[in-house]
Amino acid sequence: MTNIFRAIVIEEVDGKQAAALRELTSSDLPDNDVLVEVEFSSLNYKDGLAVQGKRIARRLPMIAGIDLAGTVVESRSADWKPGDRVTVNGWGMSETEQGGFTRYQRVKPEWLVRVPEAFSLEQAAAIGTAGYTAALCVDALENWGVRKSERETLVTGAAGGVGSIAIALLAKAGHRVTASTGRAETHAYLQALGTSGFVTREELEEKGPPLQKERWAGAVDSVGSTTLATVLSQTVYGGAVAACGLAGGADLPGTVLPHILRGVALLGIDSVMAPAERRHRAWNRLARDLDTGLLASMTTIEAMSRLPELSAQILAGRTRGRVVIDVKR
Ligand code: NDP
Repeated sequence: MTNIFRAIVIEEVDGKQAAALRELTSSDLPDNDVLVEVEFSSLNYKDGLAVQGKRIARRLPMIAGIDLAGTVVESRSADWKPGDRVTVNGWGMSETEQGGFTRYQRVKPEWLVRVPEAFSLEQAAAIGTAGYTAALCVDALENWGVRKSERETLVTGAAGGVGSIAIALLAKAGHRVTASTGRAETHAYLQALGTSGFVTREELEEKGPPLQKERWAGAVDSVGSTTLATVLSQTVYGGAVAACGLAGGADLPGTVLPHILRGVALLGIDSVMAPAERRHRAWNRLARDLDTGLLASMTTIEAMSRLPELSAQILAGRTRGRVVIDVKR
């Protein structure tokens, strides 16, 4: 392990949280049982909030980054040995636990997922929290009974990280996918991922009656607010919406009518504290169903030093697909 390495650290400056590129040593890392040499992390919406100082970190100083992918260097756990290729998503990293925008991190053994043979470390980071959350959403819809059918399955926030991977997974499972995006210029990209129809972001943002024409067999929603209320009001009898995000707002201005008159389910999806068994199922689906060519088409690679500007871009809704963070640059 090199003595000095770089990390993105959230600190308090003039009463506000701010991110800076800092040089750290191993004594700055927590005393967890597995030391990982990190190769890549990724940029998620929550990373945008953290790096822009929006109080995601609940103790300071905090190494930001909710994902990491790398190789085990040292382990005090019988479950992991040097050379193992691993990834961590969530578990409070960047909030209460030191995160992944760093060359080295010490993590708890129970947080680690073995990177499937199908993926390189860079691809595991390209999937990251957003992709693994998309897989949790698709698993939840299938468990509820939403399967491929003549009806459309909707994905909101389609050109974002969760949305892009959800489209690829749903299309692979045989769903007819409709994408909701606020960016018409992404239509060709979304079609290449497997989208067959589009609705505009504005159409779903408009507040309408509590029960509308039944359109969606199911949906993956990363937007929340009025969009989620509209999607629920347009979901078919017995359908379900997997809700994971709040890119459009944290409120839910709807009624109970879709639930009590159509039996529509609102399936809440949390990636941060999801139990290991659910994570493994999600990663197995990704290894089985996610085409690595499509993953490449939705991924850009950026240097860790660019995170301050990249974090502003993701909060402004200007990021397409997934951004891998190379922590060596
Ligand atoms: P991205 O920024 O990559 O994607 C979000 C997408 O939402 C954008 O690309 C855009 O899609 C759309 N969007 C952005 N701003 C707005 C707005 N104001 N109103 C409506 N739509 C908007 O983020 P991620 O994919 O990383 O995350 C998506 C959401 O899911 C976030 O809210 C994130 O916090 C949440 N999340 C939750 C997890 C959980 O465990 N529950 C895990 C991972 C993510 P387009 O341009 O196509 O309209």
